Amino acid sequence: MYFCPMRIDIITLHPELLESPFSVSILKRAIDKKLVNVVFHQLRDYSDDKHRRVDDTQYGGGAGMVMSVKPISALLDKLLSERTYDEVIYMSPDGHRFEQSIANQLSTCSSLIILCGHYKGIDQRIRDVYITKEISIGDFVLSGGELPAAIVCDAVIRLLPGVLGDETSALTDSFQDGLLAPPVYTRPAEWRGNKVPEVLLSGHAKKIEDWRHEEAVKRTQLIRPDLLE
Ligand code: SAH
Repeated sequence: MYFCPMRIDIITLHPELLESPFSVSILKRAIDKKLVNVVFHQLRDYSDDKHRRVDDTQYGGGAGMVMSVKPISALLDKLLSERTYDEVIYMSPDGHRFEQSIANQLSTCSSLIILCGHYKGIDQRIRDVYITKEISIGDFVLSGGELPAAIVCDAVIRLLPGVLGDETSALTDSFQDGLLAPPVYTRPAEWRGNKVPEVLLSGHAKKIEDWRHEEAVKRTQLIRPDLLE
């Protein structure tokens, strides 16, 4: 059977800001293994201005430029005429707060567009006409959508089948079961008098599983009781 990799198109003014997150570690491996195809689009290439401008002053006045409709719509129209997309995402501080459940949902998609904003953001009409999902990575304002887009891609791509060496690894991470992850240890078994919990050395799978669950609950109660509500 022919396997079709997930496709992610990222619209940006600064592709160079996005290059390194995709060229190392798990994301690089996913791309090399053709499990995902990530395409960067320089928005300035779609400007009809001779200086390749993509922004303009705000109607109504006020500080800060706004990203104009025309280059964005030209590029989106082109992409949308080439294939169907499951979601057209705009990274924005006033979007839905990003969390694991959104990453899980996006990991089941076959094609996504992610639009990175700059300046004061994009003209509202683009949001009204094209955008199907708006995602914030937290209650703070960054200067551009590239780092947020890279964060979303990382969280999504690591969930794609075949990306992590051991498929079950992602399932035992924080939030997947509504709990924080339990503590983890590796060699040596004793370091400066601090011992690894005995049960982890026991080789007893059920006891280890129970211990991990208890520790995950304890940690969640202590640090993030809201997750247990
Ligand atoms: N004027 C906007 C902020 C614009 S910041 C406001 O007050 O809501 C410029 C761009 O950075 C945004 O268009 C968005 O793409 C990106 N950005 C900034 N903070 C972000 C966040 N917390 N989550 C996602 N994207 C963010």
